[in-house]
Amino acid sequence: MNLMYNSTRNKQETATASQAILQGLATDGGLFVPNAIPALDKSVEELAKMSYQEVAYEVMKLYITDFTEEELKNCIKRAYDSKFDTTEIAPMVKKDGAYYLELFHGATIAFKDMALSILPHLLTTAAKKNNVKNEIVILTATSGDTGKAALAGFADVEGTSIIVFYPKNGVSPIQEKQMITQKGANTKVVGITGNFDDAQSGVKAMFNNKELAERMDKAGYQFSSANSINIGRLVPQIVYYVYAYSRLVKNGEIKVGDPMNVVVPTGNFGNILAAYYAKNMGLPINKLVCASNDNKVLYDFFQTGTYDKNREFILTTSPSMDILISSNLERLIYKIAGNDAEKCADLMQALSTKGVYNITPDMQANLADFVGGYTDEATTAKTIKAMYDKEGYVMDTHTAVAAGVYQGYVAKTGDKTPTVIASTASPYKFTRSVMNAIDSKYDSMGDFELVDELSKLSGVKVPNAIEEIRTAPVLHDIVCESEKMQATVEKILGL
Ligand SMILES: *Cc1c(COP(=O)(O)O)cnc(C)c1O
Repeated sequence: MNLMYNSTRNKQETATASQAILQGLATDGGLFVPNAIPALDKSVEELAKMSYQEVAYEVMKLYITDFTEEELKNCIKRAYDSKFDTTEIAPMVKKDGAYYLELFHGATIAFKDMALSILPHLLTTAAKKNNVKNEIVILTATSGDTGKAALAGFADVEGTSIIVFYPKNGVSPIQEKQMITQKGANTKVVGITGNFDDAQSGVKAMFNNKELAERMDKAGYQFSSANSINIGRLVPQIVYYVYAYSRLVKNGEIKVGDPMNVVVPTGNFGNILAAYYAKNMGLPINKLVCASNDNKVLYDFFQTGTYDKNREFILTTSPSMDILISSNLERLIYKIAGNDAEKCADLMQALSTKGVYNITPDMQANLADFVGGYTDEATTAKTIKAMYDKEGYVMDTHTAVAAGVYQGYVAKTGDKTPTVIASTASPYKFTRSVMNAIDSKYDSMGDFELVDELSKLSGVKVPNAIEEIRTAPVLHDIVCESEKMQATVEKILGL
């Protein structure tokens, strides 16, 4: 019970795990972080014998400390079930010398399902524990994948409703179709005329609006967040790195204690931060390779120690990484500042007023575990094609960004450490970009024609998530300007 959470901007603002999950963001705008990163208390040998669900319990129990064993196990059981199309939940395949950890076997075929399948259960359990009577309104900004995964997770979950904002012109056709066909009486999907950062800033502003919170409370509502700023998103993501390591051992690929590298295609910095937490829990991770696309604000940050979002926002074929404000980086900044909340608050203040901050040389020295890299559009496409030609394996564009960065890293360093690449989406989610990368002849085909072609080419059955949207009716058509997001929420909730 002694693990508590505090805000990255003020150590005095503390919360239990369940309160942090309920609240999403700290009231001062900071993110909740554990006051100490717990150590794994099971050996790798023991973990290697466990199922995904069992590993999940061993990791999550160390963070979600105010849930009973029964409560947490119940959440895990309900999340990681037949919604996943493989009993392994997160299978790993070895291709062209690296291990691809396929995190896309859930209901919406992106890695967001790994956390968003369990978040609704964590949240409703946390609500009961804290005697919350209000309806919990999940407010989410999405660059494409979070939105659908959150909608699928929260649809018709009692005591909750969900409103998702996405950049109208910034997601793939399949991503948009997945969202606007979402069923569930408690779901709302809104396109905005701005980009993802506008959507995320709009959502954050609503979370920080005390006057709005009061009016919501009077009407019987309160906000919570399904974005990766919620600690209930981060913790389930730590699990699959521990699981991946234990599988490498189990399959005889490495021995207990041998190092592994991880490469993570990064946008909001949630997924790679989870790997960093896993390392800090004692998992033998050597390098954490942070892969960006042309929006390479993180690459530049790791190179120079300057985070500068003042640059052109580039729409790429890996839209879930088209982000210039990586929210979860704040948790890393806090840690490399020696858990100094004041320092962290200053830097975040600089980011919000000037769009740029510099870390100190001491802080930069604490980043030695990280390597930044990026892949441009042409290289991403070439990487997809080369993998297909060599192995017959089709990757999605985000995974290809990571694979491209990995190849560049190995060419430069000669590092032969066994490497796990987080494979974050099914190629079926980004069919057009993937097929175009393989052959330009596909350009003239329709979206669902391409789906069938991809199935022929890869020998992988069309996932259910795609089959079900082929003919599904459009149920959501609200579009608003980014300045009108709050007005739209008020209208939806009847405030
Ligand atoms: C969200 C997403 C990412 C980026 O993950 P972060 O945790 O935001 O860094 C990468 N790839 C895909 C397919 C995603 O959906």
